[in-house]
Amino acid sequence: MLLDKHGRTINYLRLAITDKCNLRCFYCMPEEGIDWLSKKELMSYEEMLQACGVLVKMGIEKIRITGGEPFVRKDFMPFLNELSKLQGLRQLTITTNGVLTAPYVPELKRLGVQSVNLSLDTLDRNRFLEITRRDYLPQVLETLEQLLHHGIDVKLNAVVMDGRNTQDILPLAELTKELPVSVRFIEEMPFNGGDNHYTKLAWDHVQILHSIKEKYSEITKLPDPPYSTSFNYKIPGHKGKIGIIAAYTRSFCGTCNRIRLTPQGELKTCLYGKGVMNLKDLMRAGYTDSRLGAAVREAVSNKEKNGWEAEKNSMGLPILNASMATIGG
Ligand code: SAM
Ligand code: SF4
Repeated sequence: MLLDKHGRTINYLRLAITDKCNLRCFYCMPEEGIDWLSKKELMSYEEMLQACGVLVKMGIEKIRITGGEPFVRKDFMPFLNELSKLQGLRQLTITTNGVLTAPYVPELKRLGVQSVNLSLDTLDRNRFLEITRRDYLPQVLETLEQLLHHGIDVKLNAVVMDGRNTQDILPLAELTKELPVSVRFIEEMPFNGGDNHYTKLAWDHVQILHSIKEKYSEITKLPDPPYSTSFNYKIPGHKGKIGIIAAYTRSFCGTCNRIRLTPQGELKTCLYGKGVMNLKDLMRAGYTDSRLGAAVREAVSNKEKNGWEAEKNSMGLPILNASMATIGG
């Protein structure tokens, strides 16, 4: 088991397999001038499999593949196939923007992927173009249809942005009427690859709930499952659920069970913290699995108590100016 010094069991890895993406969501990365990682800087699939093998042996039970956009990395599906064979791995999930995903859905089902997080910030094609700087809404909706058709659990992730898509909160919430999906509204975080940060978050979780309640006063609170990052709700009579993720407010840190591996192999024990060690460099330096495991155990035991502490400990480093695509969301 992987434990931190606060007594939390760490059993969830978010693995960002690429920093590249076919969208340019303005809350995640700038439109131009991005310094993409070179092939040499990226972890190879073999290195990822080795690292995941070590981590799963140490108690990681769930791996979420993210990025960047996982489906833009060549040979992603063969890698997923290999990963799905790891003994001890109980849950393999993916976060995707859904642009290239639809044709792979039957294969995801076959590999045992039970749930997919699909990013969808608006149902309006023009606003989708404004937010993502690309005109791919139909492809994303096709992915949603395919996922539901193949019986894969879907969580729709919508980042709520002041002045951009707050008019989409209700239409997105209304999707839960007919669809058995979980629509999750996420507070906008500062990780947009630039330094244009707001000083106060206008649309926090309280405001998001308030705007849903204006139409659905009957919305009811559901119990939050262990380790849930969202406050969960249901509109009576609707098939799906609603979640609100206080990602900026950081109210879920107390029960955090996760670590992250960035595309270049940095192990992050907190989203808001700096990388604590680079697994790719250690593997390339010839570390055996047991040495790697010992180094990880030590690093994880020192996991920060919460995002505020991690941010404080990273003082001097431009953590908040990173793109979410280089951290993995
Ligand atoms: N490309 C995939 C996607 O968009 O689903 C996976 C990577 S993306 C970085 C993972 C998640 O992070 C997405 O749901 C995205 O909406 C979210 N995200 C990105 N930047 C964010 C920000 N500044 N604040 C809050 N969520 C953000
Ligand atoms: Fe790409 Fe996902 Fe970032 Fe949008 S949020 S730019 S889809 S990595």
